[in-house]
Amino acid sequence: MSLSEHQTASLSAETVVVAAGRPPRERDQPVNPPITLSSTYFGTGPLGDGDRGYGRYSNPTWDPFEEALGELEGSDLPGLLYASGLAAVSSALSLIPAGGVLVMPSHSYSGSLVMASELAQKGFIELRTVDIADTDAVREAIAPAGPSAAASMLWLESPTYPMLGIADMQALADAAHAAGAIVVTDNTFSTPLVQQPLLLGSDVVLHSVTKYLAGHSDVVLGALVTSNPQIRSELLHHRIIHGGIAGPFEAWLALRGLRTLALRVERSQASAMVLAERLAAHPAIESIRFPGLPADPGHARAKEQMKGFGSIICIQVAATGALSGADAADKLVQALRLWLPATSLGGVESLIERRRRHTAEPASVPENLVRLSVGIENVEDLWSDLEQALKALDG
Ligand SMILES: *Cc1c(COP(=O)(O)O)cnc(C)c1O
Repeated sequence: MSLSEHQTASLSAETVVVAAGRPPRERDQPVNPPITLSSTYFGTGPLGDGDRGYGRYSNPTWDPFEEALGELEGSDLPGLLYASGLAAVSSALSLIPAGGVLVMPSHSYSGSLVMASELAQKGFIELRTVDIADTDAVREAIAPAGPSAAASMLWLESPTYPMLGIADMQALADAAHAAGAIVVTDNTFSTPLVQQPLLLGSDVVLHSVTKYLAGHSDVVLGALVTSNPQIRSELLHHRIIHGGIAGPFEAWLALRGLRTLALRVERSQASAMVLAERLAAHPAIESIRFPGLPADPGHARAKEQMKGFGSIICIQVAATGALSGADAADKLVQALRLWLPATSLGGVESLIERRRRHTAEPASVPENLVRLSVGIENVEDLWSDLEQALKALDG
């Protein structure tokens, strides 16, 4: 690679996303790494640590992205790419010993919650779900006063999905470590440009690379990052043996997407702030969650541990004379012409959906809750579209 970790350590994240993971600065080298399509590698000796071995163990196309992501999250070790965010969740959960206790936000990403619940139903782990914004309640779940066992793992999402609750990440990591638990943070919503969980005490950071990091809604990928060599080698072993590996083409697309991450995050965060302020003042909106709004319950905490407030907004649509809140929310989504009605988030295009249309969504998520993932279009175009669709709710 052209810049060693040493050299890029002094560069800002906005530069690292552009400069990291390029081929050597030598005459006639390409400026972008190639895609390596090979299931095995020429080998002359016995398999050693440095050998690539086989296509499930390693692929040169993964390396630039893994190095860049490790560096962005503040680790000395490269990240690990996976076939999807959920493959990364599976690998992270494998760190819990048999019968161990997992403490997880009750509003975690639905797939993560389903996986953890199924492990608990089969008796492999014990699951305790908590309101992650309530620090004392989480502390109690990690190390209960009574005879119940202390946690083996604390799972953090902040902001949570889709209620946008904000955890006191450092305080909770300290409590988890005091109880002997490891801390995994799903940082998909924030990206390392907005929040660096390893620097706030987490042991492992998880990304659905599908979302902001790749950023164009054209790949499904996941990643984990840790600065603990022991944990990394356990995760790597899990990836090799369980086989949730990334395709080389997807890995290459993710690096290509990462190049513009700083610009995309800057634009979408700025637009989200503008839209949140306007939505908060709109009579058709019953309530809004966006940590950037000073009135939001998570605002002060988010301001301390994030650089910006992300670009996910959740609104609850008010019932009208004729429509329930849920029906009004559906009608709003259908009346939009520019915003795309689709699940997922973090792409260049703005997406919107009513969350409870997913049957896996917890019943504690209100029926009229609509999640907006703000993209990089012109903010006034985004607002005009929302405004005309909100107006259609009256008619
Ligand atoms: C999408 C998502 C996941 C799952 O990732 P996939 O790439 O869809 O497997 C996990 N966590 C969060 C916060 C997500 O948004």
